Amino acid sequence: MTSIQFLKGVGPKKAELFGHLGIESLDDLLFNFPRAWEDRRLPARREPSPILIPAPVIRGKIKAIRDLYTSSRLRIFKVIVETPTGEAEASFFKRHNTRFDVFAPLRKDLKEGRTIWITGTPEDPLFLSRLRADEYYPDDDLRALKMHIGRIVPVYPLTEGLTAKFMREAVYEAVQAGAEDVGDYLPPSLVLKRGLAARDLAARAMHFPENNFELNAARRRFIYEELLLMALAWAIKKRQTRSVKKGFNYEIKKTLLTPFRENLGFHLTGAQAHAINEIFTDMQAPTPMGRLLEGDVGSGKTVVALSAMLLAAENGGQSVFAAPTEILAEQHLLTFEKFLKGLGVRFALLTGRLKASEKKKIIADLAEGKIDILIGTHAVISEGVKFKNLRLVVVDEQHRFGVRQRAALRAKGDKADMLIMTATPIPRTLFLALYGDLDLSVIKEMPPGRKPVKTTEATEDVAFMAAKDEVVKGRQVYIVYPVIEETLAADMKSVKAEFERIKVLFRGRRVDMMHGRMPSELKKQVMEDFAAGRTDVLVATQVIEVGIDVANATLMVINNAERFGLASLHQLRGRVGRGKWDSRCMLVAHARAGDSADRLRAMVQSSNGFELSERDIYIRGAGEILGVRQHGDMDFKLADMSRDADVLNQAIEDREELLAADPELGKKENAGLRRKLQDLYAARWNLIDLS
Ligand code: ADP
Ligand code: MG
Repeated sequence: MTSIQFLKGVGPKKAELFGHLGIESLDDLLFNFPRAWEDRRLPARREPSPILIPAPVIRGKIKAIRDLYTSSRLRIFKVIVETPTGEAEASFFKRHNTRFDVFAPLRKDLKEGRTIWITGTPEDPLFLSRLRADEYYPDDDLRALKMHIGRIVPVYPLTEGLTAKFMREAVYEAVQAGAEDVGDYLPPSLVLKRGLAARDLAARAMHFPENNFELNAARRRFIYEELLLMALAWAIKKRQTRSVKKGFNYEIKKTLLTPFRENLGFHLTGAQAHAINEIFTDMQAPTPMGRLLEGDVGSGKTVVALSAMLLAAENGGQSVFAAPTEILAEQHLLTFEKFLKGLGVRFALLTGRLKASEKKKIIADLAEGKIDILIGTHAVISEGVKFKNLRLVVVDEQHRFGVRQRAALRAKGDKADMLIMTATPIPRTLFLALYGDLDLSVIKEMPPGRKPVKTTEATEDVAFMAAKDEVVKGRQVYIVYPVIEETLAADMKSVKAEFERIKVLFRGRRVDMMHGRMPSELKKQVMEDFAAGRTDVLVATQVIEVGIDVANATLMVINNAERFGLASLHQLRGRVGRGKWDSRCMLVAHARAGDSADRLRAMVQSSNGFELSERDIYIRGAGEILGVRQHGDMDFKLADMSRDADVLNQAIEDREELLAADPELGKKENAGLRRKLQDLYAARWNLIDLS
């Protein structure tokens, strides 16, 4: 590969600076795509574009020049320019220096009568004709017109010592020297089918597009590449996972499963039975299970997971059940105590808050195989936790865990089965793109008798009146706030402050408080009191968003509802409507920021998590919902999962066709793709060697 040092204008010193940006070769520079594009064409020549950043640009004949001192320190060089739309002016600022003339170069370039281009920042946002100049170029500087002005200009991440202008020049040289030779690794049939821009032209247009159209075509080309490669990598990873053998067999003995079913006190829904069937089939297969279970809040996923863990236990295998919060983990413990009563299954709860001695005991029991099911928070992932015979990993509310955390948990067993669960349904294409190595089970049916929760926007007064009504009727109420404590900066109500106020408002009733920073023991007590109906009103943060299951609670009031994401709002709403009474959710919004109005409207219109997740993706972008952004699992350079859904669909379709026709990508026309996959993903994703 050609080192960047041999590029015109780049010597060893600059090469080192490029090194700081991870750019070492000519190719690195070519494929270091801009992070944005500035439109430096004259305003009259611009097409509207969501991508281009409009830059203030002046072009005209210099009419007058003023050299001013504002103080003994600062000098201003001002040029007045005659443009077709009127007079404009640009100012250059320099620190005064008695020893030499700081404006000598300007005086040489900017002579009256000369036509120049200037770009900069407006001195006043209302008057784009008055600029604080950043860069200027004479109109007869043809080279500048090729890369700096009068065109769409690339914007790159920079580093100390490398200016934007120098960077553009270096990239321009790289494009001249190398863009023609970038080659194409995609099979020509795909390029043709998808009408992709030729790769060499696209590489040039990514940096120096002649217009919007060229830029969009170039971006589309590289977004397609990125998504196709990722989609292929997932498929190959899936094949790889499925090609190993577990080395143990399951038999459905029903020694535990039958008494468990009889203990339940209800019949499984058809959808639950179906999901259990799919899971059991996987668990009995010779290769490890990787399955995502999707089901709306309250659809009964826990019972499905329990069935899987009992199948493992019947066969002498240990399971782990990981939940994202202590409250949820504790709630699961209560559920297990209820449903596993008298079965002789040994289970324990491990969270970060346990006393050291308790923790030690559990860890020892686990290693000796004296515990069948370990329930816990992220604490179960920690290194000290070892199993004797871990065969099944269940991750609840999986979006709160990252791919790496799931993998770490799975690695505690030997080719353990994995079931991950979510209440935020993921549209099919996204599922394929992000979790392409998993199979999917969906619970679309709710247990019988559930009534939809009536959702409205309300003022605080109306919401509190409704709360009083419910309490009088003997029902219970949640009132949620976004933060624990008051902050000066944000317009947000806090649990602690409002708790005091609500206690007064509901005098004579029992009001309790719950937030993440309370001691575990206290949280547990508060939960038990609420579950037993001893508390009327629970003032809480989002900690109650998952896991709490109290049938007598019929009203959920969410304050500062504008602060919550759609997935959270829906989860919170899922805390009510669990009993035989009509339930309501009231959204109290205090301000309308950004897309919050869309979210609240969506909540009022739909009580279906599947519908909402489609909208959430629209409103917020996919990464956030899926938790992938916060865990850094997906690092696309160009593609945006919500905006580029159509390209993603194409990539997935093409992947299926490619692999159906050539599973090993061994055919000559696919050799390039195969090499590229090897370079990009083999090490990072631990793929089977593709070379
Ligand atoms: P989620 O899918 O949100 O995790 P849970 O597993 O917590 O839902 O179930 C919600 C509630 O519904 C629990 O109280 C559970 O016992 C109950 N439940 C689960 N399955 C059924 C069923 N088939 N019939 C009636 N109630 C059920
Ligand atoms: Mg659940």
